[in-house]
Formats: sequence, structure tokens, C-alpha cells
Amino acid sequence: MAGAAAQRHRAVPAEEWLQKWAAGKTGFHQEHGHPLLKKYLDVLLNGRNGLRIFFPLCGKAVEMKWLADLGHRVVGAEISEQALREFFSEQGLPYREEPVPGIPGAKVLQSTSGNISLYCCSIYDLSSAVVGKFDGVWDRGALVAVNPCDRERYASLMISLMEKNSSYLLVTVLYDPNKHKGPPFYVPESEITSLFGSQCEIKCLEKVDAFSDRHRDWGLDYFLEVLYILKFDLSRLQANRLTSSEQIGRVGSSCRGGFIIEWEIGAAVLELQAGLMPLAQ
Ligand code: SAH
Repeated sequence: MAGAAAQRHRAVPAEEWLQKWAAGKTGFHQEHGHPLLKKYLDVLLNGRNGLRIFFPLCGKAVEMKWLADLGHRVVGAEISEQALREFFSEQGLPYREEPVPGIPGAKVLQSTSGNISLYCCSIYDLSSAVVGKFDGVWDRGALVAVNPCDRERYASLMISLMEKNSSYLLVTVLYDPNKHKGPPFYVPESEITSLFGSQCEIKCLEKVDAFSDRHRDWGLDYFLEVLYILKFDLSRLQANRLTSSEQIGRVGSSCRGGFIIEWEIGAAVLELQAGLMPLAQ
């Protein structure tokens, strides 16, 4: 079977995730945090302080504490209550819990200092009416953990949670999907473009060889992590009005260096719009 088609019908029920947590099968958890967030934090923050940052499918990601310690407000969503309790206890943070109005059975676990709020429910139960909108997103082990049949629903929800001038760091994985059933699921760049491309500027920041014994045990012989920045900003909305420019931009939206062309074209389009650049014949 070719590429992503091999995993199209695979679906992991919520119960299976809860069992993974109960059995301690959480090899995805990174005790020391993710090196790509450390490296590209400035790209996410873009010089801004006191942001609201969302961690979809957060598990017990230690990066939530990093960002809170830097003065940002962190919101997470996770179905496993065990994961959230482990987060607070391992990070030594006291917390309280409350029901979430409008979502039966859901709770929010909030650090007593008030800057970390973790919703214990399915991400699909959330909306901007409940959690508000965000200036930044760290999506690692989230889009790639979502069942392939739910990706569009997930992407539209995420788009609805983004503030106008916001940034979304997205980590995907590339490997031979015929050799491992996932999760994490294989998500090629074409899929990122089709899920998010009409709403934001997409730029590939880095492709990293992340192959380890764990991946060898899955039967793989390569495993890459790919980091993208999705920029939801006003200039993109302006550029969107020029359909031809968008088509040209799409052609250049490749991870292999093409994104530079796309961004240059984007800038030229804005200059054209502003009447700063004469049209070439
Ligand atoms: N982002 C975390 C966890 C990745 S594993 C990290 O980087 O460590 C994916 C997580 O998503 C699991 O903890 C699982 O329990 C949770 N999950 C799966 N489906 C979910 C859903 N529909 N809503 C919220 N959380 C979900």
C-alpha cells in the first residue's frame, strides 16, 4: 500500500490510551522535554511575553512547566486523568480541580498559582467558548496521535482556537507507514498543507533524524521528526485575497528550501498590494 493509505483506517479508541497510561507504556513521554521546543522557543514567542499557550493532547509534557515558569499561561487537553495527576505531582505543583461547565464529566485541573490549566476530557469536547483562543501552540505527539479519520476535525478545531497573530509549532513524523501501524501516525507535508494551508503560512523549520532503538523494535529503519511553524497572521489573510499569489506560494511550500521562495513571494505580493513594487511585464 502506498504511503499514508496504509494507516487511513487505523483508529485507536480512548480506552487504549487510558490503558497505555495505566500500564506505564508511555515511551512517547520525554522526561527532559523536547529539544526542538528549546531550540525554536523564540520563533514561537516572537519576542512576546505573557502569552496563552495551548498543548493539545498534552500527556504530562514537562514543557508545560517550562513555559509557565517563563511567565506564560498554559492550557492543556488530555483524556487521561492519570497523566495530568502525574504531571502535577512530578513537577511538584499543588493544584485544585473543578468541573467544566457545559462539558459533562470533564474536569479542569489547575495549578494553585493559576497559570497552568489542564482539561481532562476529549479535545473534541473543547471550543473557544470554553478555553478561549491562544497566542501559541506546541503540538508534539498530538496531530500525529489523532486518528487519521479525525484529522480534519482536529485541524478545524485547532484553527478555531488560534488568535489572529498567533504561532503554532507542529512536530510530525516521517517513517515507512507500511512497517508500523502507529501511533504516532505518518503525516506527510502534503497533508499539513491540505489541513492548514488555507488559513496560515506554513514553514518547515527543521527535519531531524530521531531514529532510536524504540523505532528499530517497531521494525523501522528510519524515523524523522519534522518541525513546522504555522503563522496565523494578518498579512497572510491579506495575501489570501490574491488567489494567484496563493497558488504560486503553494508551489514553493516545500521543506526542501522552497519555503524561502514562498516567503519572498509573499512579501512581494504585499508590496504589490501596497503599490510599492511595479508589476513586471
Ligand atoms: N503531547 C504529549 C503526549 C503525546 S501521546 C507528549 O508529547 O508527551 C498522545 C496523548 O494524547 C496521550 O496521552 C493520550 O492519552 C492523549 N489523547 C488521545 N486522544 C485524545 C483525545 N481525543 N483528547 C485528548 N487527549 C487524547
